[in-house]
Amino acid sequence: MEELDILFQLQCIDLMLEANERKLREIMAPPPSAKATEEKLSLFQSKDQELRNLKRDIKDRELEIDSLSQKIKKLKNELYSGKGGVKELMDKQSDMEALTKNQKKLEDVLLELLEKAEVLESEVHEAREQWSRKEKEKEEDLARQAKEKAEIEEAIEKLKQERKSKADFLPVDLLNTYEKLRRSMMGRAVVEVKKDKCGGCQIQIASRKLSEIKKRNSIITCENCGRILYWKEG
Ligand SMILES: [Zn+2]
Repeated sequence: MEELDILFQLQCIDLMLEANERKLREIMAPPPSAKATEEKLSLFQSKDQELRNLKRDIKDRELEIDSLSQKIKKLKNELYSGKGGVKELMDKQSDMEALTKNQKKLEDVLLELLEKAEVLESEVHEAREQWSRKEKEKEEDLARQAKEKAEIEEAIEKLKQERKSKADFLPVDLLNTYEKLRRSMMGRAVVEVKKDKCGGCQIQIASRKLSEIKKRNSIITCENCGRILYWKEG
């Protein structure tokens, strides 16, 4: 019965189709490098923001020091001019000393901030490099995925055409029985008889039934699992 041969071939195609569709679902998931890229980007962004804040801080300190310098300069000029009473001059002198002390303190802070900025600057640079490396990796992975996807889709299309050409040879009721069995038997509705056993559930087949199967002129199912039993000729 050539129909059984065709049905068995059809099942092979269906199994390959399933495998390809599974593969397709798997490769549609984003590659691990996509998540890694997100992480590297977020690290870069946070470092970059930190640096921006620090630079703003530095700018503020510089302005503060600048304004102090101007005040000190003004006081110095007033002191050197010698105008005003002794008390006033002494007050100015002590003001100037306090401001100078303050300025020195601010300059120390500024120096620390500048050193911190230098370190942070190189960290930002490194984070940007790491991000861009991951981004490149991700792009490559995505391109590879797209290529693989196209290949699998092409294979699926070919298998579908092959399936149709096989199915056209089979009677509708046999196809329906096959489809129903396929759903309940995890895709394996037709099984080969090997060593006198059902290729699905491995039960021993009675000799009279076996000889019927070997005649290959009717559809015989396994009494245990219900699968269609197939005897391959030759
Ligand atoms: Zn069986």
